Amino acid sequence: KAKMTRRGSHVIFESTIRQELENRLTLESELALAADRGEFELFYQPQVRLVDGSLIGAEALIRWRHPARGYVSPGEFMPVVNTSALSERIASWVMETASRQARAWELSGNSVRVAINLSPSQLHSGDLAHSVAVLLATTGLTPSLLELEVTEDILLHDEGRVLDLFKRIQELGVRVLFDDFGTGYASLSYLKKFPLDGLKIDRSFVLDLLSDSDDAAIVGSTIGLSKQLGLTVVAEGIENRATADFLVSMGCEEGQGYFFGRPMPAEAFEKQFLMVGRESVNAA
Ligand code: C2E
Ligand code: MG
Ligand code: MG
Ligand code: MG
Repeated sequence: KAKMTRRGSHVIFESTIRQELENRLTLESELALAADRGEFELFYQPQVRLVDGSLIGAEALIRWRHPARGYVSPGEFMPVVNTSALSERIASWVMETASRQARAWELSGNSVRVAINLSPSQLHSGDLAHSVAVLLATTGLTPSLLELEVTEDILLHDEGRVLDLFKRIQELGVRVLFDDFGTGYASLSYLKKFPLDGLKIDRSFVLDLLSDSDDAAIVGSTIGLSKQLGLTVVAEGIENRATADFLVSMGCEEGQGYFFGRPMPAEAFEKQFLMVGRESVNAA
């Protein structure tokens, strides 16, 4: 009887794996089609000075405008993209699109720093520092208006290689920030190993900041640590004014979250946060 059960669960296990594999392959080919059809878009979420809410920059966040499902969030497809042959193609598209946007805003008189999330393929194959240099040269974007965000999981391998890339990228004047700080296994050792310009406190510590004293302790210490190390610190996931005020009282200078603005299309971002184009052109 035990044998039958074992055999039975084995069959179920196998069919589940097969199903997952099929789903993945379907999604992969849908994503390749989506790339061909230009269905990816970048949304922009404001990053502000917490004391007065004034705009500093924007984080570029990818969306898939699916013909039937509407906007699909990156959590649903980027894990597949990042482990498929599409990875480099989409990563380059993100970097180019965001840089062009930043340059367009710069030319319109708005110095908006744009932050891009790096994909693993960008650190582990090709020469990212060279690509960034080419991008800056072709767009004419001021280097300090570009920021790259990296998560711990993509720093895991090739430490020497990544270290070299970061140094060369920073020599260009582009900043590198550690994203989702505190969620990985070895966040502190990465601060020691890599030349980082700043860190972003993960929203999981910020969301319940007011009610959870452990979160408050973690966030407070992270802010203190950042200052001691001379790093910029950005808090993510600020959903209300009280949280923003509390962060200010702990010495945090920059932040982003639904309270200041959700990720939105570039045109909506311009309307809400920038003085771009038509009105000013017409007024002149
Ligand atoms: P992330 O880089 O940590 O981005 C912040 C995420 O937090 C975004 O989710 C944003 O919409 C969400 N968020 C912002 N403010 C709030 C808030 O106040 N409350 C809550 N609950 N959430 C907030 P999103 O856009 O779904 O992106 C998820 C993740 O997908 C990103 O996390 C990033 O790791 C990845 N991602 C997004 N765009 C790209 C991209 O272009 N390339 C790569 N490689 N990864 C991307
Ligand atoms: Mg990010
Ligand atoms: Mg994050
Ligand atoms: Mg994240």
